[in-house]
Amino acid sequence: MWTQHRYQALSERFYAPVTLTPCAEPSLLLLNEALAEDLNLDAEWLRSAEAVSCLAGNTALDGAEPAALAYAGHQFGNFVPSLGDGRALLLGEAISSDGRPVEIQLKGSGPTRFSRGGDGRAPLEAVLREYIFSEAMHALAIPTTRTLAVISTGERVLRETMQPGAVLVRVAESHVRVGTFQFFAARGDHEALRLLVDDVVERSYPELRPLEGRERVLALLRAVCGRQARLVARWMGVGFIHGVMNTDNIALSGETIDYGPTAFLDPYSPAAVFSSIDRRGRYAYGNQPGMAAWGMARLAETLLPLIAADADEATAAAQAVLDGFADAFQEAYDLVFAQKLGFAAADAEVAGLSSRLLAQMSEVEADFTATFTGLNDIVAGREPELLPQLLGASPAFAAWRQEWADVRSERGMSPEASLALMQRANPRYIMRNHRVANAVETAAATGSLAGVSDLLDAARNPFEKNPKLDYLAVPPSPEERGLRTTCGT
Ligand code: AMP
Ligand code: MG
Ligand code: MG
Repeated sequence: MWTQHRYQALSERFYAPVTLTPCAEPSLLLLNEALAEDLNLDAEWLRSAEAVSCLAGNTALDGAEPAALAYAGHQFGNFVPSLGDGRALLLGEAISSDGRPVEIQLKGSGPTRFSRGGDGRAPLEAVLREYIFSEAMHALAIPTTRTLAVISTGERVLRETMQPGAVLVRVAESHVRVGTFQFFAARGDHEALRLLVDDVVERSYPELRPLEGRERVLALLRAVCGRQARLVARWMGVGFIHGVMNTDNIALSGETIDYGPTAFLDPYSPAAVFSSIDRRGRYAYGNQPGMAAWGMARLAETLLPLIAADADEATAAAQAVLDGFADAFQEAYDLVFAQKLGFAAADAEVAGLSSRLLAQMSEVEADFTATFTGLNDIVAGREPELLPQLLGASPAFAAWRQEWADVRSERGMSPEASLALMQRANPRYIMRNHRVANAVETAAATGSLAGVSDLLDAARNPFEKNPKLDYLAVPPSPEERGLRTTCGT
């Protein structure tokens, strides 16, 4: 267990072995028991001193070769040829209950060859945020890395203030990023790029195994674009804002990765930004599809030498694939929003309904999640408890509501059939930024994890009304809104 990872077979160009820097007093704060069980890891053992020491990055199991992966990336549009795991290390692999291998990585476990002057550590607040958000995304059935455990290091890290340090134990299908390809493209290492293409196909796109050469490369690009388009469409459907869609934070597997200044929308607004460092709104809610397309173009650039020797020919072939991104996104987005309105399929009329609703929401700054929860109540024939007042009282909404009902009946959607779709598409509980901030700050300041536990309960059951957790469904007051998030690095 955890003693092997596949980058060893790829060659040492892909990683730097890590000399462990033990932390003072590792202790297990949170264990994701459901995930442990899914990975066939014994929860009792995970609580043992031997396992906790290993999960803190203090000791390695016999024969293990902890590794920091190499990657580059565009950060806010600027290319940085060498980033890499500066505060993370790969322990090895585990196998999930469905037979899929997954990577186990520690984040915050100390410096590596890629630390560039950073301390390689992570503050507890950021680690708890990643746990909360990744658990929420998983329960929303959106592809994501997972969190197996949170370990307290017993040390403090210096950020704006001194904060308790922690290690996040992260589980991913693959940590290969667009930036991994960029790392080798920047060095002109075509052989490494070929190995990476094969690795990603083998790991995440087994259906492409029969293809070879240029066909394999183009088909992979198309498949990665498709997954990314669908992923971002799903984000949009729950109001998720990643916050730092730099190319080093876009995984080839199509998993949501590297939760930093992440947040969920409160009032609907395409311009919504939470991250304090995203001053120009590059990664605003409504820019995410465009930024994903931009990231895919950066990936395509790295693949050109594998597509054709002639640069123009390679560019034309790659461009043809990239041109499909916008349609793939739109199709996925229309379906996501069709389901949010209780339709099994999208068409122009249904898409018109959702864009007109969003326009009304934007006008009155209606809360995104509460609006759709309100629509669930309407279809269920209940008083729409959370529907934003301004929206509910507007004549335009009354007209929209009638039209919505008419189109549903034209499409033969019974209230029951619509509700069944909507109940899986419109979560009642999202991880509200002001709640998350409060819970993780309290945990860091007092050591109490009660607020974090409540959030995790709601994150794991986002669709089911739970009177005990209903305070989490209430939108923030104007004073509670607009709180900025940081990368928390
Ligand atoms: P991120 O903002 O988490 O996507 O990280 C961007 C880059 O900065 C990656 O190469 C990280 O490994 C590196 N990095 C972030 N925080 C630290 C830290 N505390 N120490 C060393 N490297 C870091
Ligand atoms: Mg990152
Ligand atoms: Mg990060």
